Amino acid sequence: MTQARSEYRGQIHQRQKELMLKWYERLDQAARTGTPPTAAMMISGNCVELLEGFGAVPLYPEINALQMAIRHQSLEPILVAEELGYAADNCAYVKADIGAWLKGLTPAEGKLPVPSLVLCNFVGCNTYIKWFEHVAELQGAPLYMLDVPFLRTDEPSRADIDYVVRQLQEVVTRLEEITGRKFDLDRFRQAVRCSSRVEELWSEIKHLAKRAPSPFDAYFDAITLMGPLYVYRATPEGVEFFEVALKEMQEKAAQQQGLFDREKFRVVIEGPPPYPYFRTFRDMFAKWKACAVASTYSTVGGLWEFGARHDPEQPFEAVALHMLAQNVTNRNYLQRYEQIRRYIEEWNADGLIIHFVKSCRLFSAGQGDMRDYFTKTLGIPTLYLESDLEDPRYFAEAQTRNRIDAYFEAMEHQHLTRSHQEAR
Ligand code: SF4
Repeated sequence: MTQARSEYRGQIHQRQKELMLKWYERLDQAARTGTPPTAAMMISGNCVELLEGFGAVPLYPEINALQMAIRHQSLEPILVAEELGYAADNCAYVKADIGAWLKGLTPAEGKLPVPSLVLCNFVGCNTYIKWFEHVAELQGAPLYMLDVPFLRTDEPSRADIDYVVRQLQEVVTRLEEITGRKFDLDRFRQAVRCSSRVEELWSEIKHLAKRAPSPFDAYFDAITLMGPLYVYRATPEGVEFFEVALKEMQEKAAQQQGLFDREKFRVVIEGPPPYPYFRTFRDMFAKWKACAVASTYSTVGGLWEFGARHDPEQPFEAVALHMLAQNVTNRNYLQRYEQIRRYIEEWNADGLIIHFVKSCRLFSAGQGDMRDYFTKTLGIPTLYLESDLEDPRYFAEAQTRNRIDAYFEAMEHQHLTRSHQEAR
């Protein structure tokens, strides 16, 4: 079978590069001049709308870490952090970020600033807490630990929402003190309105993957859209970007254009990708003309395809709800099962791929049980793979390829047998 390389390429790829470059330029400007103010934040459950109320720019260590991994630059900073004493089984995002800071490595041309505020929007993963404590200490930046309770019931309680809203208001006061800028409530509301619109557009894009063929890959291509989603969600540029993206996808869908001449398999992917081998990993699926029609990873920054939106009428509450309930990392395992089950049924997928990431306990703990549930209880063909999202030492290329080939060979055989039986 020939090696296939396929991906969605359109205007949005160029636009995405421009937007992300512009973001790094603004961070470089902040590093050189101290303006605009910046806040280091986590992607998951980020409150980027609040920063817009100060004209401040988010700084996401996870994006920097993954950019380094995609460019094959992550091992050097990881080794620096390990020499310093970080354990081999520590989250490799943390090690890459800390090592890069110590070595002065950046994924872009310019510099990264010392953030005006290290804002630990802790949702779900307790690694965030220690990571951001280390960042604040190393960089000599003020730290605010935003404590977001884990989602223990289907919906967050009134007390949990109020608890987060009060902290967000405290963050506003803290940022006013640090930046010397007055919080602009109208601009904040406008930012929440932009987020709501972006969420609507992003959701429409994701629903297009229900078509057969899907006009894009909702795992590999979705990652292209995720950068602007986190950095620009609360801005008019974000709205414009997602309007262009939706239009392009709609045109492809109208012409029945998929990723391949013929889409053979539709899968759901759970877990982050192996960024150091992103292209190689993608090609292993392309070889089988397998398209991801949905993914849990693309809901790290927000779970919008099931209808939730930021409400501009209640901006603080909307941000709190996003942090508490509308991102995959702050939700419990059974809710993740249900999310995947819906993807498989409603997006009409043939199977499930679980990518276990050695670094990331938040995503990976319990995935063995998850495989059993989908295979044995629901009868969904499920493939379980293991590597890492940042550390290239944990990607076994030949073994991964063999397992993916075996999985699709078996599925191909099943499809053939089924169509023979139906033809009788
Ligand atoms: S453990 Fe996972 S969720 Fe937590 S910081 Fe690392 S990569 Fe992110």
